[in-house]
Amino acid sequence: MGEFELIASFFADSGIARQDVIVGVGDDGAVLQMRDGYDLVVTTDTMVCGTHFFPDVDPRALGHKLVTVNVSDLAAMGAEPAWLSLALTLPSVDEAWLRQFAAGLAETADYYNCRLVGGDTTRGPLSLTMIAKGQVPRGRAITRAGAKVGDYIYVTGTLGDAALGLKVCQGQAQTSKKHQAHLLQRFHFPSARVALGQALRNVASSAMDLSDGLCGDLPHILRRSAVGAYIDVHKLPLSQALKDSCDQPVAFKMALSGGEDYELLFTVPESKRGSLDVLLSPYGVPFTCIGRITGATGKLELKAGEQPFDYQHQGFLHFP
Ligand SMILES: [Mg+2]
Repeated sequence: MGEFELIASFFADSGIARQDVIVGVGDDGAVLQMRDGYDLVVTTDTMVCGTHFFPDVDPRALGHKLVTVNVSDLAAMGAEPAWLSLALTLPSVDEAWLRQFAAGLAETADYYNCRLVGGDTTRGPLSLTMIAKGQVPRGRAITRAGAKVGDYIYVTGTLGDAALGLKVCQGQAQTSKKHQAHLLQRFHFPSARVALGQALRNVASSAMDLSDGLCGDLPHILRRSAVGAYIDVHKLPLSQALKDSCDQPVAFKMALSGGEDYELLFTVPESKRGSLDVLLSPYGVPFTCIGRITGATGKLELKAGEQPFDYQHQGFLHFP
């Protein structure tokens, strides 16, 4: 057995044992049992060393993040995560690194009730690809295409923390020890809003997760739904750590253009707005109304209260 074949042994027991995995890691393919009356939701994310993460990043955090970013996409569809596959490209076999990476992956898969059911390993520049599969009751997946004029726009949690966490990592921002811990946690160990995503099936007209920053991501909903929107920057949910660590224009920039928050962005029709508190409060994740869907097709307008807010969005760069 070659060293690359041995790698499979690091991942053989990743995640929680699931009865719907008929054949898992170790065969030519996985055999998975779909639940009756459910649709399959599939998503893929790749993380490349030097583009999405630093070469010296904690491998445990990397394993955590790879699972989380994939599961976050399932959450945004209103799906329940179930199965993961991993394609791993490694320059060499570093057992200590692999053990840590596999541990981060396994504990996070377990947390989200997922099982790793297969994968592939090749030699090459460090790159990680994960495919996540989840299930959603037939016809109930939330897409980016359902936003209607007059719908309210919401986000979960707070925005911009991960982007500032990245700056702290790079030594480009300083803050108190307590805030630093919070920001680094948000950058290295984001959460996927899985339970809340499933609750949104009953209220949201559209949803997506925030990976590239609000100004980069919201236009996807606007395009798919053929609508416009305005956002009031004074309504953006900002953490105390973000507010204390930078002045307002920088805080707005982090919240509007900073990536990797993995919060959910969703729209809610006026008729369902009244039931939001009752429906979503059990999940313990704050959510904030930040704007509204308008008729002007495709256009995203930023306001500060009643005034237009002059802002030049630059696409989120993982290494700004
Ligand atoms: Mg996404």
